[in-house]
Amino acid sequence: MRIACHFLAGFILTAALTLTNGNADTSAVDSPRAKNIIFMVPDGMGLAGVTAARIFKHGPNSGRLSFETLPVIGYQSTHSADSSVTDSAAAASAWACGEKFNNGEISCHDDNTDGICDRTPAPTILDLAKALGKVAGLVVTSDITHATPAAFGANVHHRRCEAEIARQYLARDIDVLLGGGIAKNRAPCKRSSSGSDDPDSLLAAYRASGYAIIDTKTQMNNAVTDGHPKVLGLFKPDGKTLEMFRVNPDIAYPRQEPTLPEMTAAALHLLSRHDRGFFLLVEGSQIDWAGHDNHLKNQIAETLAFDAAVQEVLQWLSAQPNRRQETLLLVVADHETGGFAINGPRGSLAAKGHFVRDGWTGDWHTAVDTLIWAQGPGSPRFGRALDNTDLYGVIKRVLK
Ligand SMILES: [Zn+2]
Repeated sequence: MRIACHFLAGFILTAALTLTNGNADTSAVDSPRAKNIIFMVPDGMGLAGVTAARIFKHGPNSGRLSFETLPVIGYQSTHSADSSVTDSAAAASAWACGEKFNNGEISCHDDNTDGICDRTPAPTILDLAKALGKVAGLVVTSDITHATPAAFGANVHHRRCEAEIARQYLARDIDVLLGGGIAKNRAPCKRSSSGSDDPDSLLAAYRASGYAIIDTKTQMNNAVTDGHPKVLGLFKPDGKTLEMFRVNPDIAYPRQEPTLPEMTAAALHLLSRHDRGFFLLVEGSQIDWAGHDNHLKNQIAETLAFDAAVQEVLQWLSAQPNRRQETLLLVVADHETGGFAINGPRGSLAAKGHFVRDGWTGDWHTAVDTLIWAQGPGSPRFGRALDNTDLYGVIKRVLK
């Protein structure tokens, strides 16, 4: 009986503490407001990919990747409206609008599969930021009109409608666009608004709207120095050069092509000149592509390039006293790719600079939950089990 009483008292005390913590947590995160949102996506990165990259960079016993140092860690389920295994379009649309979408849809509910968005989704996070007078940027290592950035800056029935996505970026007046290609995917799109799908015509429309159109690192640096208000940087036709090629002295690569960390730093310079704050999406797009290829070395290289971009953000946050308090930083993968696992070495420790023994369950995405790292206003709300649609509400709440 005494044991039972102790148990009951312990239960009540535990329940009271839980309630107290819950209340305190709520009040603590309700008041903060974020001037800036930096949303960073290691596309297709699972926890095993984090482990493999960390071992390669630091060895097993010391050092963390930059995003691992963020104080809040949670995880999210990733299924789309019509599939346990999501694609990047539905996953990014879930973040952007806080709703489930079918695979392939870009922040658009094409219920009748006729190329028309039948139900109006919530405004995207980028739209919310723009409505508050903020500026916005998309920085990726894929084509700039690829699925993940598209979900924040367009509403189209299918990810392949890249010309329409480019038109909608322009209509939304997205201030900084850095990545590869534009409207290169010419697969038939059932329905698009008026306007040519020809890339040259699209670029002419951007130019007429005051964008500086650049395609080299030097031009990007000049745009930063000049403080050009609108920049469209397209550095390679079909996604950026793989990081493994950059570090291999035997392989010629376009040395005038900026890296993801360099593009991130440039975007931060350009966007942070505005008093009202900004929304910035940064995507390490090709971690996913390495997963599709079951290519461990590329996966690690792309993960480390993404992490270097996170390091750029952390340095920017530390450079002025108020930035950390004013900025919500999120690092979250949309899904895992390849079913990547670490099967060894067994009986010895993989050291710094070594590759783990890899195993893969397939060449497409998996349905496993993905991790969230966060810091800044509202970030404690990410430190739990969430669904990918939950991120929207937290961001909407802290945006000011
Ligand atoms: Zn993929």
